[in-house]
Amino acid sequence: MRHEEGHRSHRIGWLRAAVLGANDGIVSTASLIVGVAAAESTRGAILIAGIAGLVAGAMSMAAGEYVSVSSQSDTENADLARERRELATDPEHEHAELTAIYVKRGLDDRLAAEVAKQLMQKDALAAHARDELGITEELSARPVQAAFASAGTFTLGAALPLVLVLLVPRSALIWAVSAGSLCFLAMLGSLAAYAGGSPVWKSAARVTFWGALAMGLTAGVGALFGATL
Ligand SMILES: [Zn+2]
Repeated sequence: MRHEEGHRSHRIGWLRAAVLGANDGIVSTASLIVGVAAAESTRGAILIAGIAGLVAGAMSMAAGEYVSVSSQSDTENADLARERRELATDPEHEHAELTAIYVKRGLDDRLAAEVAKQLMQKDALAAHARDELGITEELSARPVQAAFASAGTFTLGAALPLVLVLLVPRSALIWAVSAGSLCFLAMLGSLAAYAGGSPVWKSAARVTFWGALAMGLTAGVGALFGATL
């Protein structure tokens, strides 16, 4: 009977990116809203600032992610092209290289050589990409998906404080957006910790502390400029 092992590492990659994106969305947009509100602006001005912050943030996240993942993809493709060339020009040496990798992993020489031979007969490039370069189909860089995922999670995060601006009275806006955003951050931090199998409270406290610091500083700056301008 096949038993399920509760490994979580396969969740980490995309979850971490999603939570980071949403965190950025909440912290940057909530801070912007609290800062503009502290400068005694109207609800309309606060909403415009918040929406502009959402769009600017989502676009910069997407652009940053696209550029960084594209360069990773370029590196991977260059490595694969070199590997393809080496396999074509010196297959014996490549076989010896793969065998050495399997011996290092614990196989005896004869078995390692046989495994390397059979895997190279099946798909030499895939075997070398996976076991020598650490490049697999599942984990290979996808710039467009990464950009959309990053912009999407940022937008989801940023929309939360914006909805609060629409729902609460102007007089309670600063406290409602601050408290609400800190709750969202704590929930996200807990979710990420729970899914990753790490201590929930520690993660929630960490993200809430930094969120509070960002909003507090921005509110201070907003109040300062609101009073002087
Ligand atoms: Zn190789």
